[in-house]
Amino acid sequence: MPLPVVAIIGQPNVGKSTLFNRIINERVAIVEDKPGVTRDRNYARASWMGHQFSIIDTGGITWENSTIDEEIRAQAEIAIEEADVIVMIADASKGVTDLDERIARLLYRSKKPVLLGINKADNPEQRADIYDFYSLGLGEPIPVSGAHGTGLGDLLDKVVENFPPEAENAADDVISFSVIGRPNVGKSSIVNRLLGEDRVIVANEEGTTRDAIDTPFEKDGTKFRVVDTAGIRRRGKVYEKTEKYSVMRAMSALERSDVAVLVLDASTGIREQDKHVAGYAHEAGIGVIIAVNKWDVPKKTSSSGQDFEAVIRDEFAYLDYAPIVFVSAKTGKGIDDLPKLVEKVYENQSQRIQSSVLNDLLLEASRLVPAPMVKGKRLRVYYMTQVKSNPPTFVVFCNDPELMHFSYQRFLINQLRENFDFTGTPIKILPRKRK
Ligand code: GDP
Ligand code: GDP
Repeated sequence: MPLPVVAIIGQPNVGKSTLFNRIINERVAIVEDKPGVTRDRNYARASWMGHQFSIIDTGGITWENSTIDEEIRAQAEIAIEEADVIVMIADASKGVTDLDERIARLLYRSKKPVLLGINKADNPEQRADIYDFYSLGLGEPIPVSGAHGTGLGDLLDKVVENFPPEAENAADDVISFSVIGRPNVGKSSIVNRLLGEDRVIVANEEGTTRDAIDTPFEKDGTKFRVVDTAGIRRRGKVYEKTEKYSVMRAMSALERSDVAVLVLDASTGIREQDKHVAGYAHEAGIGVIIAVNKWDVPKKTSSSGQDFEAVIRDEFAYLDYAPIVFVSAKTGKGIDDLPKLVEKVYENQSQRIQSSVLNDLLLEASRLVPAPMVKGKRLRVYYMTQVKSNPPTFVVFCNDPELMHFSYQRFLINQLRENFDFTGTPIKILPRKRK
C-alpha cells in the first residue's frame, strides 16, 4: 500500500523544519527507523493516530543561485505534484506577508487539500490573533507552535482526515517496479522504451491520485506497474535534476515498489551519487536489478561487460544479490527482457520455503562448517523457519543470539542462495534464543 504523502511548504524561517522534526520525532517509538530514510532530513516517515504517512519538507530542497521566487515556485510545484495533503505554514509573529500571498496563490491551482498552519503561536494571545490569515483563502488557520509542540495534534488530525480513502488498489496481481538512478543515466529513456514512445500516461482513475504517476502495462500476460512514471518522464524543470530532489523521489518510489531497477551509465562509469541511490535501494529491502545503460556508447569506461561488472561488484558489494544487465535505451538492447527479469526477481523474493527443507539444509550446513566458538562458547543452531517473504526473512533459533556473528549469518545466507534461487532479493536472518 502506498503511503499518503504530506508536504510542508512556506516561506523561509516560518518554522517548517522545526515542525517537520517535531512530527517525525513523535513517531520514533512507533515506526521502524530505516537507516537512510532518516539520513535525509527532507523526507521521512511519520505516523499519527495509527495513520502512517510520508512527509516532505519542501523548504529543505534548495539549490544554488535561485531567487526566493523561483525557490517558492519550485516548492509549490513539488508539493502539488507529490503530496496528497499540503500543509502551508505561515508565521503568527509576522502576520500575512506578500510571500504568503504568493504561495497561497500557487496552491490554489492544486486540486489537493491544503491546510494552513500558523506557527509561532506560542501563547494564548498569539493563538487568538490569527484571523488575518483567513485572507489567504485557504480556509481556517490552525495555530501551532513548533517550539512548544502545541496545536500540532489539531493540525495532524486535519491532515489525516484529508487522506485519500484507502484505495481499493486493484486486486494486486500487479508487480510494481521503479526505475531509479541519478540524473541523466537514462531513466526516462528506458521507461519510454518500455512503454512505447508515444504511449500517453494512462488516464487517472477515479479517486486514486497515484494512478496518474504509476503506469500499468502488460507484457507476455504479466501485469506490471512502473512507479513514478510521470516524474521520470517529465522534462525540463530545474529541480528535477537536483540531487536532493532525485533522492527524495527515489525513496518515495522505492516505498511503492516490489522491485527496483537501478540504472547506471556505462558512458560515465560509477559516480558518488550512484552509490547514494544504490544504498537506498538496498535499504528498502526489496528486489534489486542493476541495469547498465548506454551500452551502445563506443567509448565505455571499461572495455568489456566483465570489467564493468567487476567494478560494480567491488563498489556495491552489499548488492551482491542483484543481477547485472547491460542495456541501451537508444538501440533497445536488453530493454525487452527487463520485465521478465523483474518478474523473476519478484517470484524469488516472494517464495516460501518449508521448514522441513530448511532444516535439512541447516543440518547439511553444520556438517560442512561446524558452528563457531565465540569467547569459549560454542554457537548451537537448532532450528530455522521462514517467517516472512518480500524479502525472505528467516528466524534461526540458537543457544545464544550473541554468538551468531555476521559472518555466520552470511554463511547461512550463502547456503540459502546455493540451494534456492534468491537472485535479486536480499535475505534477512534473525537469530533468536530457543526457549
Ligand atoms: P524554516 O526555514 O521554515 O524551516 O524555519 P526553521 O524551522 O528553521 O525555523 C526558523 C526559526 O524560527 C528558528 O530560529 C526556530 O527556532 C524558530 N521557530 C520555529 N518554530 C517556532 C515557534 O513555534 N515559536 C517560536 N517563537 N519560534 C519558532
Ligand atoms: P534521466 O535523467 O535518468 O531520466 O535520463 P534521460 O533519459 O533524460 O537521458 C539522459 C541523456 O542520455 C539523454 O540525452 C538521452 O538521450 C541519453 N541516453 C539515454 N539512454 C541512452 C542510451 O542507451 N544510449 C545513449 N547513447 N544515450 C542515452
